[in-house]
Amino acid sequence: MREDDNAHADEYLNARRRMAERQLVARGIKDERVLSAIVAVPRHEFMPPERRADAHFDGAVPIGEAQTISQPYMVALMVELLEVEPGQRILEVGAGSGYQAAVLAEMGAEVYGIELIPALAKRAEAVLERLGYEQAHIIIGDGSKGYAKAAPYDGIIVAAAAPAISPAWVEQLSEGGRIVAPVGSLHHQVCTVARKVKGEMKVREDIGCVFVPLLGEHGWDRGV
Ligand code: SAM
Repeated sequence: MREDDNAHADEYLNARRRMAERQLVARGIKDERVLSAIVAVPRHEFMPPERRADAHFDGAVPIGEAQTISQPYMVALMVELLEVEPGQRILEVGAGSGYQAAVLAEMGAEVYGIELIPALAKRAEAVLERLGYEQAHIIIGDGSKGYAKAAPYDGIIVAAAAPAISPAWVEQLSEGGRIVAPVGSLHHQVCTVARKVKGEMKVREDIGCVFVPLLGEHGWDRGV
């Protein structure tokens, strides 16, 4: 931790507690493990320096490379829907800043966060390492194809708008595991939960949402 951060550690902690109460509990997030993880993870550390003041903003915030760190509420909702348990192996598609990977690691998961943009992946990896999140691994690559090397996964969480649930995610998911992903058009998606039951996917839809596009083989074409 840098000296100026030490001085502000209590302020940041209080800001996270307020964020959890006003943005998450007030909107129906109930899982205490999710709420504790969000209060524990220093979200400001995952922001670009010029955006630190927006660390607890109730919306997505730019992190460079035309990408965003997701709204705290969307992170909390999707992680809650994933029903992650300690020790589970989770694939995160679209690691971005590394923040959501830290939340999952804080909950005891072994996280494989795959990110298409090398500059973001490198920054996320450096922050996670500095903060001691050894259970979070960042990989540079096309997560629309999953990450076969560490499969199978107990859960797959997707942080970019997918045109459909990728067949690779289904293939790399364990029996009983779940995929949580924003699925829909480029401009609007539905937060979708798909569970693998006896090899079949049982799909249900949660709230509407808007994410940056998932690119890559099973994503959208660049520049659409
Ligand atoms: N979870 C992130 C966080 O906590 O900061 C926010 C993710 S941001 C909303 C979506 C990310 O998905 C972007 O960083 C983008 O580069 C990445 N992305 C888009 N298509 C991808 C793909 N095919 N594979 C991996 N990452 C992808």
